[in-house]
Amino acid sequence: MEKEGLRNIPSVHELLESQGLANLSLTYPRGLIVSTVREVLEDLRGALKRNESEVDLSPDAIVSMIKARLMNKTRLSLQRVINATGVVIHTCLGRSPLPLKALEDVQERAKGYCSLETDLSTGKRAPRGEYLETLVCTLTGAEAGMVVNNNAAAVLLALDTLARGKEVIVSRSQLVEIGGSFRMPEVMEKGGAILREVGTTNKTYLADYKKAITPDTALLLMVHPSNFRMVGFTAEVGIAELADLGREHGLPVMYDLGSGALIDFASYGLSHEPTVQESVEAGVDITTFSTDKLLGGPQGGVIVGKRDLINLMKKNPLTRALRMGKLSIAALEATLGLYANKETLTETLPILEMIARPVEEIEGQCREFVKELSGMTPGVEVSIEDGFSTIGGGSLPGEEIPTRLLSINPRPYSAQELSDMLRMNVPSILGRIERDRVLLDFRTVRNKEESGEILSALVRYYIIRE
Ligand SMILES: *Cc1c(COP(=O)(O)O)cnc(C)c1O
Repeated sequence: MEKEGLRNIPSVHELLESQGLANLSLTYPRGLIVSTVREVLEDLRGALKRNESEVDLSPDAIVSMIKARLMNKTRLSLQRVINATGVVIHTCLGRSPLPLKALEDVQERAKGYCSLETDLSTGKRAPRGEYLETLVCTLTGAEAGMVVNNNAAAVLLALDTLARGKEVIVSRSQLVEIGGSFRMPEVMEKGGAILREVGTTNKTYLADYKKAITPDTALLLMVHPSNFRMVGFTAEVGIAELADLGREHGLPVMYDLGSGALIDFASYGLSHEPTVQESVEAGVDITTFSTDKLLGGPQGGVIVGKRDLINLMKKNPLTRALRMGKLSIAALEATLGLYANKETLTETLPILEMIARPVEEIEGQCREFVKELSGMTPGVEVSIEDGFSTIGGGSLPGEEIPTRLLSINPRPYSAQELSDMLRMNVPSILGRIERDRVLLDFRTVRNKEESGEILSALVRYYIIRE
């Protein structure tokens, strides 16, 4: 029985030539198809050897197993997602959506050639990203700057350049983990720096830093605890005080600012988030930040500060390994360009547009959905609830923006079931589940087209359910 079964298994070659798999080569690379066919046949052989009953060896069954497995593999490909979670800078969903101008510039510069490392006025070779550095300096008031692949790279490069084999003094309360494996003590170790923790978890004073300074000290480091907030019995040293201390002792002071706000978020009804300009003005020697958080651009990291220190970093061979790609340079140049006109930033910068979107507009969208959906079947219960959107991306923790939520009670089915179906929709739609309801926040839904796609997915769900 087992022998006979094994003989009936088609060969890899037969399957690849079969009608059933012929079209797959339009969608998937051949190598992936071949390895998937092999895996499926191996599984079938195993099942036969274990004398499992009901091993279906019909060509149709085998072909659909192969297709299902291929689909499963490509599920992890980069796909479009509609973000109805209300988390504006969602790290797992790609952080900041890019401004239109950035998209246009990326497309145009990437379609053909671009002046990535050429000075067009002389025809000679020039360092990449030089104009980007000018923009960064103009916007932040810094005397020098450089861009790298992300803020983690910026911190690593700075530590490797300024503190390899030497001590870096940092407050215990700032040895943070940002998520996605960025943990300050570990990054420091990679940068070859020796960590000198000072103060306590909740209180650190200037005297603590002062006491720790020795001839081995290379750097005083301040880290913005981006994704959490300390409340209660706490004390922190201000950035200006630390900058003064550094100057007194001839030691550079670095501030890992994280979020990279270039505007005051207090004017959007949120708490004040320290800006890059404030850090520069306080006399900090090196400030590092991400470009895809509160700045609203592509993935990237910026280092601004004193010219001699930046020049040292530029000469570090690591710079080549951490450099930014041309697509990101194009996108970041365009995004920073928008900051020239701060009055229109709420229209041109998607994250600001979403943060500033009036609650009435969001409620209007919810109302349309209620109108469309409430008549669908007697079982459907849709309503509008008050709720909160958040900033996310490790920025402005605990900060909430009032919003309205479309609340769907999919009785007699579970909220998990509806949520799974929405997530598996093409494009995928992500919301949240609370009290066995699916909640959708239109603050982070980009436009009418995306709303339409959500509506169709819900209508389809209820039609199938009926
Ligand atoms: C986000 C963040 C990082 C990591 O930045 P990436 O751009 O994600 O590499 C490092 N430090 C702080 C304080 C951050 O907030």
